[in-house]
Amino acid sequence: MHYSTKVVRAGIPEHEQGQPFLPGPTFAGVYHAAGDPKESPYTYGRFHNPTWTLFEKALTELEGGSSVVFPSGMAAVAAVFNTTLRPGNILVMPSDSYYTSRLIAQGHLAAQGVEVRMAPTAGNAQLEILEGATLLWLESPSNPGLDVCDIAALSEAAHARGILVAVDNTTPTVLGQQPLALGADFSVSSDTKALTGHSDLVLGHVSCRDEALTEKLRTWRTQQGVIPGPMEVWLAHRSLSTLALRLERQSANALALARFLQSRPEVKVVRYPGLPTDPAYPTAVKQMQFFGPVVSFVLGGKSEADQFLTSAKLIIEATSFGGIKTSAERRARWSGDQVPEGFIRMSAGCEDINDLLEDFTQALATIA
Ligand SMILES: *Cc1c(COP(=O)(O)O)cnc(C)c1O
Repeated sequence: MHYSTKVVRAGIPEHEQGQPFLPGPTFAGVYHAAGDPKESPYTYGRFHNPTWTLFEKALTELEGGSSVVFPSGMAAVAAVFNTTLRPGNILVMPSDSYYTSRLIAQGHLAAQGVEVRMAPTAGNAQLEILEGATLLWLESPSNPGLDVCDIAALSEAAHARGILVAVDNTTPTVLGQQPLALGADFSVSSDTKALTGHSDLVLGHVSCRDEALTEKLRTWRTQQGVIPGPMEVWLAHRSLSTLALRLERQSANALALARFLQSRPEVKVVRYPGLPTDPAYPTAVKQMQFFGPVVSFVLGGKSEADQFLTSAKLIIEATSFGGIKTSAERRARWSGDQVPEGFIRMSAGCEDINDLLEDFTQALATIA
């Protein structure tokens, strides 16, 4: 079966006469559960929920490993960190990975005695600092710099040394790239972004090939109480079925916009892993099925970037990415990422490309 067909059908229960295709969210704190609790499929709301079960089934079908849903991307990241690392262990991660992932590593984990080593995503630089590590954390393409590393090669090198590998797969989604098939042990995602695509919820998940490791993640969720709401999970499952439609359009729009930006004198640098001239392209094309919605580019400075964003009518100025509406922000308005003042992270939506090109053209023309 083609992957885009799988996406449309993922996690849908067995056909049952008179029942909906995807049952609505189950709102329950407590379930009828007389006698031995093992006899009841559901007992208490912090342990499990039928709406989670169906969404996790969908993710498991797509990721190729058991999946656990969390209330945010960061809750998913933290679950992997906290179930794999102990004081004295070594974590290797990209120096250009998502800002908050670095924050909890350098703050929370380091304070507990975990050694955190960092190297850039580009050029598979983690390879040089792997020795003695417990967990190798990757993020490819990295957010917001859009550098790419060779997930299969790094996983192989890590496994040869007995090191676990996790990939933050938020930017491409599981449709764009399948980390478990490339050899990683964990595929981690913020489903707030392109996976759900409607900018209306915060959610995350972890998928894992090893049942014992998955069980640790479930126990972490149950005991720490980091559980998602059934409404968000149901919305996510509903949105997941259109992922192929959205990502195809977003990726096509992103490539067309990246090409356009490259042709313009106001634009100093354009990064998109799907641009054949991009330094990330040779590796990206080996491991990605779609290059995703995010394009990064640099204008002259702060005033040029602000001018562009104010003039553009179809670009919503907002943080985050992956939604069906084109959005962008001047990334340096937040501290944390080492980016130039004129650096814009743009996320291509599902609008008609002709309208986007027209809008980008007029907005660039307003830069003096
Ligand atoms: C947004 C993001 C996260 C965090 O996800 P939340 O849903 O905001 O908690 C983690 N990693 C990457 C790459 C992200 O873009």
